[in-house]
Amino acid sequence: MISYLRSLGGEVFLNRPVRRLEDLPACRATLCDVTPRQLLTIAGPGLSPVYRNRLKQFRYGMGAFKIDWALAGPVPWTAQECARAATVHLGGTLDEIAASERTAWQGYQARKPFVLLVQPSLFDSARAPQGKHTLWTYCHAPNNSQVDASERIEAQIERFAPGFRHMVLARHVSPPSELERRNANLVGGDIGGGAPTLGQLFFRPTRQLYATSKKGLYLCSSSTPPGAGVHGMCGYFAAQKALREMF
Ligand SMILES: Cc1cc2nc3c(=O)[nH]c(=O)nc-3n(C[C@H](O)[C@H](O)[C@H](O)COP(=O)(O)OP(=O)(O)OC[C@H]3O[C@@H](n4cnc5c(N)ncnc54)[C@H](O)[C@@H]3O)c2cc1C
Repeated sequence: MISYLRSLGGEVFLNRPVRRLEDLPACRATLCDVTPRQLLTIAGPGLSPVYRNRLKQFRYGMGAFKIDWALAGPVPWTAQECARAATVHLGGTLDEIAASERTAWQGYQARKPFVLLVQPSLFDSARAPQGKHTLWTYCHAPNNSQVDASERIEAQIERFAPGFRHMVLARHVSPPSELERRNANLVGGDIGGGAPTLGQLFFRPTRQLYATSKKGLYLCSSSTPPGAGVHGMCGYFAAQKALREMF
């Protein structure tokens, strides 16, 4: 959701997509929790041509391929430690993990994907009916990949938990396009708000960071520093900037 500060204080949340800046009531500072691509659509005509061009050069990262399962029982891990972990990073050897990530970065779906796996119902009984379990996972995929990675993901889990497939009662598959359909920020399935390349690690999406070419308009999403994985800090720094400049 786009959140924004009103000049007289307070916050307003809209329960619908913002298509143009004019959809929002007039205010002194507007903080957009969107990526460059959406900002171009929402605020394009109000931005300078130079800034627009810089936003167009922003590079998105790998996509994610996600699966949610309903299971008849817990995952039958060979390694018992995994049965006590909320999150399991499943990749085999370091070389296999590196190869999986490299392959997706180069535009192909890895045969043995590095899988991040979460077992919520092991720790919260409200997540599944009694005796049953839920599980979700994702692996990296090329941006906007159309390849169905579900068979490879399940084979990877089966490798470390023989009998896993017999536990599956139902699955919901979300390829990169589905992730983007549900959240426009996940461009091509990129859950990181943009590629973490050297150039985009510290200066993202442009050298102006949170500020845009339009006075009072700021970016506060993970497309700004310090990027995804450092929850809340992009918004915190963007808000500080807006408060310094506009209030
Ligand atoms: C499956 C999955 C697993 C993840 N795992 C991890 C993890 O383990 N560790 C970690 O650090 N990070 C993880 N992440 C990434 C983390 O969720 C993101 O880095 C973080 O949420 C980015 O925050 P944000 O504010 O930039 O965008 P978001 O949290 O995506 O918020 C943007 C919001 O704006 C809304 N929006 C977009 N466009 C518009 C519009 N035009 N009008 C109105 N509203 C709009 C979107 O619907 C969304 O609600 C994961 C993400 C996913 C999807």
